[in-house]
Amino acid sequence: MQNSLVLIDPTAGTFAVADPTAAHLRVDDLAPHRGDGIFETVLITLHPDGTHAVHAQGPHFARFRNSAEILELPVPDETLFHAALDAVVEDFRAKNPEATALSVRYSLSRGLDTPSAWALTIPLDPKYAEQQVNGIRVVTLDKGYDAYLGESAPWLLIGAKTLSYATNQAAGRYAAAQGADDALFVSHDGILLEGPTSNLVIRRGEELVTPDPKAGILHGTTQRTVFAHAAEAGLLTSYGDLRLEDLKNADGAWLVSSVRAAVPITAVDGTDIAVDSELTARMNDWILTNP
Ligand code: PLP
Repeated sequence: MQNSLVLIDPTAGTFAVADPTAAHLRVDDLAPHRGDGIFETVLITLHPDGTHAVHAQGPHFARFRNSAEILELPVPDETLFHAALDAVVEDFRAKNPEATALSVRYSLSRGLDTPSAWALTIPLDPKYAEQQVNGIRVVTLDKGYDAYLGESAPWLLIGAKTLSYATNQAAGRYAAAQGADDALFVSHDGILLEGPTSNLVIRRGEELVTPDPKAGILHGTTQRTVFAHAAEAGLLTSYGDLRLEDLKNADGAWLVSSVRAAVPITAVDGTDIAVDSELTARMNDWILTNP
């Protein structure tokens, strides 16, 4: 697959297709320099008739705008970013006519004197489809702060999707070194939070439960898609505090995110947990086939 890139000038309100293998950002742009910016990653389905669908496009952009507000960045223009998104998808499709799906990461940096922005295509990792069926083993990792701290410590930018993902990446490597597939962050006072790039959903009887976004996580678009469809499977939904014992005793548990979709958790900290394959398939139908 060949990637595509669109550079966006949020100040001028323009964008242009660019070479994804060439250098474009200055080294002192505050994205590479400080991780000072925000992003979203969206899943795109390419239809045979030449059209495409951006999954959960509205909720993603609403979160992007909320992240900008938290970081005190200029409010991004939805029309501009969505036009740039369409342009990068069309360019990708022209280069990769066989592709049926992809993801796009769009970012807004504090830049230098003015903000910089771009949208970059990322092909889907084939291991995601395998994980949707076979599941993943997770280890819990202490996030280092108590749940609900964000309300009294706004400078931590909890709830914003910032470009500073080095600790999330480190958590993934740490989990892999323990022989696990992914990490699950837990607050210092024992409340389950989220994965480094995903949200936790558990099944308890006839109810799906997910951590309260205010506890110190990113409010996921995929978790909201799952909750919006849950009634179709006769399930109730709720937000609430969960502890490790709740996960170990769950009737099913998943990490959910836009591109990897719903992957069942098969074990936590070396203890096997119940897997609900039927509900996993339904969740992935809701996420992947209902943009
Ligand atoms: N939590 C974090 C920290 C994430 O980075 C992500 C997505 O990348 C999510 C949760 C899941 O969000 P979404 O379902 O909108 O992809």
